[in-house]
Amino acid sequence: MKLLRTSLCFWVLVSLAVLGCSAEVVGEEEPGTSAEALSGSFPVGTELRTTADVNHRREPSTSAEILQVIPPGTAVKSAAAQPRAGWYGITWNGKTGWVAGQYLSRPAPQGSGAAALLAYHASGDVTLWDETFGRKDGADPLSNIRDAAAGRGARTSCYGTAPCTRVQLSSKLVSSMVELRQRYEYRYFVTAISGASHSSGSYHYAGRAMDIDTINGVRINGNTSLTRGFMSACSALGAIEVLGPSNRSDHQDHIHCAW
Ligand SMILES: [Zn+2]
Repeated sequence: MKLLRTSLCFWVLVSLAVLGCSAEVVGEEEPGTSAEALSGSFPVGTELRTTADVNHRREPSTSAEILQVIPPGTAVKSAAAQPRAGWYGITWNGKTGWVAGQYLSRPAPQGSGAAALLAYHASGDVTLWDETFGRKDGADPLSNIRDAAAGRGARTSCYGTAPCTRVQLSSKLVSSMVELRQRYEYRYFVTAISGASHSSGSYHYAGRAMDIDTINGVRINGNTSLTRGFMSACSALGAIEVLGPSNRSDHQDHIHCAW
């Protein structure tokens, strides 16, 4: 079998060289591991988008029949809950088949930054805690972002040094939270935005900071490449204060980024 494959490859190469022929494949596909390849699984019906002219095949294999070629930038729907070896079940134009994940992307949620964060919360990509360290005071991250999405000020807490008021969340904070998911592809758990008690004069009270305690499903516990990477991403997004395990002994279990 190996021999057969090798000689087949050889003859394909020779004929390509001799004929300068165009490949038999019409659209592009290379189910693989490029950084841009779509990864993970999506519920059936999730909207995805093609990033190139791509073959829509009957089976998840480059040797399967081509049903049609889907143009770049087309909105398609996930048709299988799990990918198969990098191929995604896709419905488009009345047909259901398979597309290589390398040529698919997931469009960012629609709407404002806060609305996008609520969509990420709903899909589990960014979890906004619905309590303030055991308190139900309406100053938790989920309430903060819901208030921001509705155009209201976000609550601060009413214990410790917290000022017990409402504050407009910084748009730079909100857009950076979206970017941490969208561009840097972190999944993270937010424990505090404007709520909870912090040092007096904290950026949290100005609606400019967030704390997170879990990255990509891993609880923060000391200085790791994961925590350093996340802190670097905050800095790259213009954060003016980044505190975490690598630079603060009192931030071994969480990261604080402020804009
Ligand atoms: Zn903090």
